[in-house]
Amino acid sequence: MIDYLIVGAGFAGCVLAERIANDLNRQVLIVETRNHIGGNAYDYYNESGILVHKYGAHAFHTNNKKVFDYLSQFTEWNLFQLRVTTNVDGQKLPIPINLDTINGLYGFHYNEEDLKEFWRSVAQPEAELNNSEDVIISKVGSELFEKFYKNYTKKQWDLSPSTMDKSVCSRIPVRTNRDNRYFTDKYQVVPKDGYTKMFEKLIAHPNIHLLLQTDFRDIRESIPFKKLIYTGPIDVYFDHQFGKLPYRSLKFSFETFDREYYQKTAIVNYPNDNDFTRIIEFKRLTGQLHPKTTIAYEYPSADGEPYYPIPRADNFEIYNKYKAEADKLANVWFAGRLGSYRYYNMDQVVDQALTLFESQIKPLYSG
Ligand code: FAD
Ligand code: UDP
Repeated sequence: MIDYLIVGAGFAGCVLAERIANDLNRQVLIVETRNHIGGNAYDYYNESGILVHKYGAHAFHTNNKKVFDYLSQFTEWNLFQLRVTTNVDGQKLPIPINLDTINGLYGFHYNEEDLKEFWRSVAQPEAELNNSEDVIISKVGSELFEKFYKNYTKKQWDLSPSTMDKSVCSRIPVRTNRDNRYFTDKYQVVPKDGYTKMFEKLIAHPNIHLLLQTDFRDIRESIPFKKLIYTGPIDVYFDHQFGKLPYRSLKFSFETFDREYYQKTAIVNYPNDNDFTRIIEFKRLTGQLHPKTTIAYEYPSADGEPYYPIPRADNFEIYNKYKAEADKLANVWFAGRLGSYRYYNMDQVVDQALTLFESQIKPLYSG
């Protein structure tokens, strides 16, 4: 009999499978609806031999040494610092907004002190920072908010930033120096041989069994198991009994060109024009050398796979009802971005999975 049935072969599911098999020597079965492991971090070589990320650019970044050291058992890394360019007023400018962005946009020759003074003159400090609009306007004022954030956010979420949790736009910092890296975390890497290879190693244990193209809902009655870890959408598990949790989806459109590079940075954003939000060039992320190059356009969409939970108070209220039901279940745990309805990055999902293992699963077998 299977000790643990794990639903979903993404970071949450595979990390928990590895811990349970290796540390507790229990039998694990992972079921996954897709025809591959890796969840949204899955990558593969396309028909031209270029390593692409099927579900959008994935750059690993963390300050969490525990998470970095854990994953380092399963892959070597390439150092990679993400840089993003954005198209504003006909110019290609670095984002996060920094000294070079402002000098480029307005033709200034500011130094850091001048920029600090500039921020003081344009910022509109709000008494309370209640949403994603407040949080940006309080730092850079409304003109820059409109040029860099407002339309991008509307396009990405089909919602005004004023109705979204402040954590959404706070993901992108505002700088006074010339640091044009997207992230400043201590560890910024991509797996040397790709994410999928790392996932293969994570679950390469004789106790871990895998069924691809298998929906949990189709097998839950027919495969006996003792305990369940569920990393799919939590509202689906409960048959939407408190209503559907909204998710934002994306459509990806891939193109390969017979030239070495397409654009200067791994990601180029299009906040104010076009139906897509950004163009990714995979070789700029992976460091692969190849005479051709593949890009992907990201088109936000209301339907399709649930890629993003939508951080808003009303949605968290619905989630909390599901969470209360989840907490009543014995021997069932919910994890990951969809199981927790949280806009988690990869490292946060790994951290959550390791913590769940250490604090709730492992203690079941001690003493
Ligand atoms: P998932 O990867 O979604 O895995 C859940 C799995 O469960 C899926 O494979 C799904 O098919 C399966 N499943 C669901 N329901 C069922 C069912 N009923 N039966 C069987 N299987 C089921 N994070 C970063 O840190 N850096 C980045 O640069 C970054 N870029 C991103 C770009 C995009 C476009 C997106 C969408 C996300 C990005 N992320 C990034 C976030 C990252 O993808 C997630 O944090 C991480 O992959 C979540 O892992 P997970 O295991 O929680 O979920
Ligand atoms: N954002 C923006 N302008 C940008 C980049 C991001 O307004 O040029 C906002 C937007 O709301 C976006 C959020 O910041 O959804 C988070 O951006 P991030 O790049 O982290 O999004 P992800 O990679 O998770 O899609």
